[in-house]
Amino acid sequence: MSIFINFIPTKLLLKLSGIKTIYPFYHIVSDKPPAHIKHLYPIRTVKQFEKDLDFLQKYFSASVFPVKDNSPQFVLSFDDGLSEVYDTIAPILLKRKISAIFFINSAFVDNRDMFKNYILSLKQKNPEIDFKEYLKNKKPYLTSNQIFELINEGFRIGAHSINHPLFSDIPEQEQIKQTKESINFIFKNFGEKQKLFAFPFTDNGVSDSYFKTVFEKSIVDYTFGTAGIKKDIFEKNIQRIPVEKYGLSAKRHIKTELLRYMIKKNMVKR
Ligand SMILES: [Zn+2]
Repeated sequence: MSIFINFIPTKLLLKLSGIKTIYPFYHIVSDKPPAHIKHLYPIRTVKQFEKDLDFLQKYFSASVFPVKDNSPQFVLSFDDGLSEVYDTIAPILLKRKISAIFFINSAFVDNRDMFKNYILSLKQKNPEIDFKEYLKNKKPYLTSNQIFELINEGFRIGAHSINHPLFSDIPEQEQIKQTKESINFIFKNFGEKQKLFAFPFTDNGVSDSYFKTVFEKSIVDYTFGTAGIKKDIFEKNIQRIPVEKYGLSAKRHIKTELLRYMIKKNMVKR
């Protein structure tokens, strides 16, 4: 899609696409991109993030999950449980009265271990680096105390697997285990009753039988993918918009997704 998207009004795209609720998600907002992420994807500065929120709040109202009415709304979420959620993101959201879901990996809370892609990013410029030292010194992940504070401020905590494997790479039994254990972790440690699970990387390649199992056995209430503005054949699998992915503004990215949805009426089938 091209630059012409700038000339199509957002309200018209919303009307023609019939889309009411959108689910944009991010990982991090930072003016000083940390070494464990800067080689992985474009990182929003505070200024860019505020601009994204200006756009979202102009056309949609911020909602908790699940949404209640049928007006244009957005539900914001953040994956990987990074410390910037506490230091930078939550204060901005509180000022604007925007709620959010923070999806965390149970193995990484309190900086006990690290996502393997972050270790790769770290080693790119500094192959000798000891990631355990880095975890101890930089504390890139949220601590339990910070998570409690976020909950007290009204934010939701969801699960994002134990240690962030690509689901299509692991057997279904292991997928279920990663889902169940990380959900149990946030219930046991933080008392989170809503069972929300965001797939690490993508739900692409996850089978129908996984979804049938987790929903029928009430292992989860809702799951979240990363496929953009799309409906899923499993109603409780919500597709979110990976706003950071191409380094475009939220305005440009979301308008492009609305136009694409309008043309193709994308449905995720398995
Ligand atoms: Zn993730």
